[in-house]
Amino acid sequence: MEHVDVLVVGAGSAGLAISHELTRWGIEHIVLERGRVGQAWRDRWDSFCLVTPNWTVRLPGEPYTGDDPDGYLPRDRIVAHLEGYATRSEAPVRERVEVHTIERGPDGRFVARTSAGDLGSDRVVLATGAFQRPHRPASAGSLPARLPHPDPGGHRTPSQLPPGALLIIGGALLLTGDPRALRGSGSARALAYALLTGGTIAMYTLWDKQAVSTYAIPPLLYDWARNLGLAIVVAPSALRRRADVVEHWHIHRREVIGVGVLSPLAYILVLTALSASPGSYVAPLRESGILIGTLMGTRLLAEGKGNRPGIPARDGAVSGASRSSARSRGEKLSVPCTRSKR
Ligand SMILES: Cc1cc2nc3c(=O)[nH]c(=O)nc-3n(C[C@H](O)[C@H](O)[C@H](O)COP(=O)(O)OP(=O)(O)OC[C@H]3O[C@@H](n4cnc5c(N)ncnc54)[C@H](O)[C@@H]3O)c2cc1C
Repeated sequence: MEHVDVLVVGAGSAGLAISHELTRWGIEHIVLERGRVGQAWRDRWDSFCLVTPNWTVRLPGEPYTGDDPDGYLPRDRIVAHLEGYATRSEAPVRERVEVHTIERGPDGRFVARTSAGDLGSDRVVLATGAFQRPHRPASAGSLPARLPHPDPGGHRTPSQLPPGALLIIGGALLLTGDPRALRGSGSARALAYALLTGGTIAMYTLWDKQAVSTYAIPPLLYDWARNLGLAIVVAPSALRRRADVVEHWHIHRREVIGVGVLSPLAYILVLTALSASPGSYVAPLRESGILIGTLMGTRLLAEGKGNRPGIPARDGAVSGASRSSARSRGEKLSVPCTRSKR
């Protein structure tokens, strides 16, 4: 039976990092991987990209040196980076070998039963990962069988999901860490305001739906009445600050007219949609305005780079480069990861 000083199970970032350090210390070892290097990332969906920025992509001996620290690497670039790291650090990885069990023999040494036979070792490092198994709350069992409830890892492309509306349970709070850590950080207050805003929007959307659908109030009339109500509410304050209003009118007349036309127009469109379709469809779609606004701010107003794909530098080292420099080298930016800059 083959014997090594250290057996490392798993060739993800943890397994490769420990291998890098064992090599540096001259310690004999083997890394067994049931799939291929970076398998956990390979298994992610096609449009996956990191939720953590590129500057966090750091492995022993390879700090992030690219010029796109705030970008977000797409899946295939993450895999390429890990493969490159394994090659550069000459990690002794054996791919497609699964470790079934590990036992300790009478002499205190370990024996691993693997898909490629038994392997003995003095020490074992389990780098088999975490976060790779979705957590399904017990209540998921009570969902009706006819209602599909896939996990994030259950599909590679949106086309593999059944058609229809999708409710996402868990998400930002889980991805951004432990919600209990918000206590005392001041973020809880901001979160409360955000939730309150969401609740208020939901309430007035239901109210709007009721008005134009159940009571059949024409959208134009409803919006006109709403604007009249608003005008009555703000009129006393505007009259008190008449000089300010006149001054702003002179300076920002075009913008005021633009908002005055576009805002009611958008609202009348939403009301028209609500009068004809279920609120559960219209409400989320209406929020796509946030995304469109972000893109327009990025593109038209040049407020910053909202679209920051990371691309690997030569030799496969993770690096970053701007979209323009990638284009000038004729590289194809396959999966752009769009996210606002921190
Ligand atoms: C949806 C999602 C998004 C994420 N996004 C981010 C992100 O943006 N940024 C970030 O830093 N982290 C992210 N993570 C977390 C990240 O994936 C993990 O922190 C990271 O993969 C852990 O690395 P690891 O080497 O410990 O384990 P893994 O990457 O899971 O590697 C473990 C390896 O062990 C192999 N293995 C397991 N069992 C055996 C066995 N019996 N025999 C042989 N081989 C075995 C597996 O095939 C795998 O290759 C995300 C996780 C998920 C689920």
